[in-house]
Amino acid sequence: MVNHALILDLVERLAGTPVGQPVELDVAAGTSDADEVAANTDLVAAWCRASGNELMEVRPASVVVRHGRRRDPLASLDPELLPGTRLWMYTNFDCNLHCDYCCVASSPQTERRALGADRVDRLAAEAVDAGVRELILTGGEPFLLPDIDVLVASCSERLPTTLLTNGMLFRGERLERLRRMDRDRLTLQISLDSATPEPHDAHRGPRAWERAVAGIRLALDEGFDVKVAATLPAEQAHEIDGFVEFLGDLGIRPEHRVIRAIAHQGVAEEGIEFTAASLVPEVTVTADGVWWHPVAAIDDSLFVRREIFPLADAIADVRERFTRYREAADQAAEWFPCS
Ligand code: SF4
Repeated sequence: MVNHALILDLVERLAGTPVGQPVELDVAAGTSDADEVAANTDLVAAWCRASGNELMEVRPASVVVRHGRRRDPLASLDPELLPGTRLWMYTNFDCNLHCDYCCVASSPQTERRALGADRVDRLAAEAVDAGVRELILTGGEPFLLPDIDVLVASCSERLPTTLLTNGMLFRGERLERLRRMDRDRLTLQISLDSATPEPHDAHRGPRAWERAVAGIRLALDEGFDVKVAATLPAEQAHEIDGFVEFLGDLGIRPEHRVIRAIAHQGVAEEGIEFTAASLVPEVTVTADGVWWHPVAAIDDSLFVRREIFPLADAIADVRERFTRYREAADQAAEWFPCS
């Protein structure tokens, strides 16, 4: 028999409770029959599903119901930003440059810490099943690896792939490796910070600008889609218009221009501060494990887990943490309203 009194009691109590707050309801009132208590619990659960309220917890003799449902932080994200839509892989950490704002402290002396062809291949294969739509390879400088063309092929044969590079090593064997890459499925993203050599070289080293521009021109001539990514210190903000015009002259399409500020990560002495609560995650894999975001792939506070595989579990872990952080932030807002 349906316990109408129980539901009426719940409706009355929720009506006097602010949205988002819980009420505890006695489901064992007037009975010691375990089957009846279970039936009452099932009844409340069914009513919550039908009425847009949330059954938060089932206790031995009571249930806790939230007035309304907590919004799903993942559902509020733009689908393109859903963690796991893009998968970042750090192929290696050593680099021919040692830029003074490198977010992962790369340099010629940095230990390689290569992800390796086998793991990249397995990640790319699992990414397809896990719903990843784009693979992004970064470093360090990926063209230092003797098998970078193999790594890229593992990725681009499965999903659209972007390869980040400083564009300075397209010569000899490395140029041949570039030429073996799939022009239809691969985008090259080359770093360039300014329309003239001085600002770029001030952070990246002598003649870095000249060689990066030559790399961009070569990649375009070879028929690759090329994105340009600039890291712009605050004092260079006034140069953006001239820089954008320069990129247009180089032949870089508007949607292929990425301009970002310096992050206070790695060897950067200043820049934007990030925490897991303030940064929408982008699942990032390195030889050391899974990280919250590629901009913080050596920041212990943004380390997610040691186990890379199965990739689907790593993505689920990042999503679950994101949901938890956002819910905690919402609760904090409830406890400390600002107006
Ligand atoms: S910012 Fe890029 S090019 Fe510069 S040291 Fe770091 S990985 Fe190398």
